[in-house]
Amino acid sequence: MLEDKNRQRTSLAELGEFGLIEHLTENFKIHHSTTEKGIGDDCAVLSSSDKQTLVTTDLLIEGVHFDLSYMPLKHLGYKSVMVNLSDVYAMNAEAEQITVSIAVSNRFPLEAIEELYAGIQLACETYKVDLIGGDTTSSTKGMLISITAIGKANKDEVVYRNGAKPTDLIVVTGDLGAAYLGLQVLEREKQVFKVNPQNQPDLEGYSYLIERQLKPEARKDIPRLLKDLEVKPTAMIDISDGLSSEIIHICKQSKVGCNIYEEKFPLDPQVISTCEEFNIDSTMVALSGGEDYELLFTISINDFEKIKANPNLTVIGHITEENQGMNLVTRANQSIKLKAQGWNSFNEEND
Ligand code: ADP
Ligand code: MG
Repeated sequence: MLEDKNRQRTSLAELGEFGLIEHLTENFKIHHSTTEKGIGDDCAVLSSSDKQTLVTTDLLIEGVHFDLSYMPLKHLGYKSVMVNLSDVYAMNAEAEQITVSIAVSNRFPLEAIEELYAGIQLACETYKVDLIGGDTTSSTKGMLISITAIGKANKDEVVYRNGAKPTDLIVVTGDLGAAYLGLQVLEREKQVFKVNPQNQPDLEGYSYLIERQLKPEARKDIPRLLKDLEVKPTAMIDISDGLSSEIIHICKQSKVGCNIYEEKFPLDPQVISTCEEFNIDSTMVALSGGEDYELLFTISINDFEKIKANPNLTVIGHITEENQGMNLVTRANQSIKLKAQGWNSFNEEND
């Protein structure tokens, strides 16, 4: 539905693998002195420093992780990079390099892969990361993208998932649930389009939600902000699967419990109005929505004064002893056990 039907189509076979790689990567700039050698040899070469090196990989598969009927390829390229950078920032580190591997079927012309790389390049420029290599191969069906990101941090700056302590405050960046709702809106329009291809998608009033779904931004600013505020989180994770499952990761790895408060969840007005329209609970969306790529972290209660005035940061609860369990406290002051996908039914007894 978002496709331009008059595009030029150059077959990938015309260029050959080397021609394709060269063509796609010729305009990428190098930003880091640690990149000794990027694309063009058998390996990239990175110089090491006294810092620690962080490595993370994600594999994205068409039909499983993305749907090209409403995901423009440029956005897909950009988002694929964001997903990886978000993991690096979640360690309180800086991302420096990425590798990109793709498998594409002959259904995709050169122009499609160019679009994908335009998104990857925009991400590299905006976030100052170097594309240093990858692999290019064919697939019998659909597209696969695998990205690896490499980051750096001083040893004493790296933040793991396992450092949360009872009385620590639980903080989220930005707001929650919008990316999931953006996907619901796009899915709805796809169904309408299937029934009547003449229908133009009606996306007015959902711009923030759709932007959060199609063009998420990783929180590169947060490690820097925390440094400026002189706050080192005790634990941190990025919110890719939904608040609930991420807080459970922190609690389990830190061997603690938590109370998070429904009334504290940061929600954009478009999230609230669209939840009303779709007749779904905004708390459920915030807990289980996923793909927000915000950061969730815990800090010592002594650091509260340093963060409390910052509009990017919202305290949503606190860490407790492990035997207190992991709980959502509702507006009605009911305590409900958190589940990876939302929470137990309101009627169920809370153990
Ligand atoms: P090899 O045969 O040794 O695997 P390739 O021909 O696959 O080498 O790759 C040549 C160079 O191009 C390498 O530096 C590799 O990292 C880089 N490269 C290959 N595919 C991609 C891609 N899709 N994006 C970025 N760099 C790539
Ligand atoms: Mg190769």
